Amino acid sequence: MDLQITTLTPLWTGGIETGKVDRIHETGILGSLRWWYEAIVRGLGGMACDPSKGECRFDTEQYAKSNATDERQRLRAAGLCDVCQVFGATGWRRRFRLVVIDDQTKPLWTGNQPLNIRPPDRERGWFLPPGRMGTFTLRIDGDETNVARLLALLRFVERWGSLGAKPQLGYGVVTIQNWDAIREHLSSFSWQQEAQWFASNQPSGGSDLPNLRHFGFFRYRFQPTNTAWWSRIGGFERIVAHVRPFAQQTVPVTPVLKNVWRFQHWQRVWGDERMFWGKVIGNERRRGQVAVSWAYPRTGGWEIRGSAWLHGVQADPVWQMLSDASILNQTLGVTCTPETVRIQNTDDLLSFLEAL
Ligand SMILES: [Zn+2]
Repeated sequence: MDLQITTLTPLWTGGIETGKVDRIHETGILGSLRWWYEAIVRGLGGMACDPSKGECRFDTEQYAKSNATDERQRLRAAGLCDVCQVFGATGWRRRFRLVVIDDQTKPLWTGNQPLNIRPPDRERGWFLPPGRMGTFTLRIDGDETNVARLLALLRFVERWGSLGAKPQLGYGVVTIQNWDAIREHLSSFSWQQEAQWFASNQPSGGSDLPNLRHFGFFRYRFQPTNTAWWSRIGGFERIVAHVRPFAQQTVPVTPVLKNVWRFQHWQRVWGDERMFWGKVIGNERRRGQVAVSWAYPRTGGWEIRGSAWLHGVQADPVWQMLSDASILNQTLGVTCTPETVRIQNTDDLLSFLEAL
C-alpha cells in the first residue's frame, strides 16, 4: 500500500545532528501515529499503556496458557495493551512495516539556524527549526486488518491530526494525494467495531494520559486580501526577509496565536497555564496540550487548524477561547470562518471518527 503524501506545514521527524533533519525518519512518523492511536484507543475505552514506562512485554508462557478464543484477548493475557498489540513492545514485533520511499522533501530553509519569532511583549519568543516540505510516499505492508486500521488512523491524521514531532509548534500537517485509490482497503475496519470490542472486553477507565474523549478540534479558513497578508502580523517585523521565500507555501503563525491565547486571554481560574501550554520540568519539556498549525493555502484560501486536550483545566472557557474567531482576526488581520468539533464522550468520538 503506497500513500502519496504532501506536506502542508513542515514535517519534523528528528535527525542525526541536533536541530537538523537530513531526511524523513520513519521513527518520527511512527511515534506520532502511535501517540494519536493511543489517544483514540483510550477515548474508545480500550487499553493503552504509558509508553514512557514501557510496561508491556510479551510473555510467551502466559500466551500459551491463556484459553481465550479471541486472539486480542489472548494477547492482553500475554501482557500487551491494545496499542502494543499493533505497534509492538518488548518481545512482540510491530504488526506492519512502514517505510518512506521517493522522498522529495527539502528543508524549508537552508542551514540549521532556527527561526526566532518574538511576539510583542515576549523577550525570548519561540524557536522554530527548519522542517521539511514536499512530497513523499509512505509504503505500508502488513496483514489486511492492521493495514486497514493504519489507514483509518492516517485518515484521522490527515483530517485533524499531525505527522511527525512538534505538533504543538505547528509541524506535520499533511495531505494524502491518492486517498480515493486507497479508501476501498478501509472497508474491513470500523471504529464502531473497535469500540464495541473494547466495551465487551473490560473497558478501561480514565487515566491522566491523552484521551480523545476530552478533545477539541478547530479549523479556521480565511481569504487574505493580498499576498503579503502575513507581513504585518505583530512580531513578524524582524523576520519578514526570512519568511518571504516560503510565505506562499506556509506561514509560521503558531507562536503569535499561542502568545495571544496564553498571555492575553488566559484566566488564572481556568487552571495551571504552564501545564496546559507546556513547561520545562528539570531537563524535560512537558508537552503542551494545544497544537496549532502554521497557516497554509488550501482550496482557494488559507487554513489554520489545531487541537486541544481539554484536561486538567476548565474545559468550557478554554474551548470558548480557542473557538473564538475574533481573536484570530485581530491577531492576524484576516477574517476567519471557524469549523470546530468538541468531543466529550465516546459517542461524540465515534461519530467524529466515522465521519472522516
Ligand atoms: Zn502497551
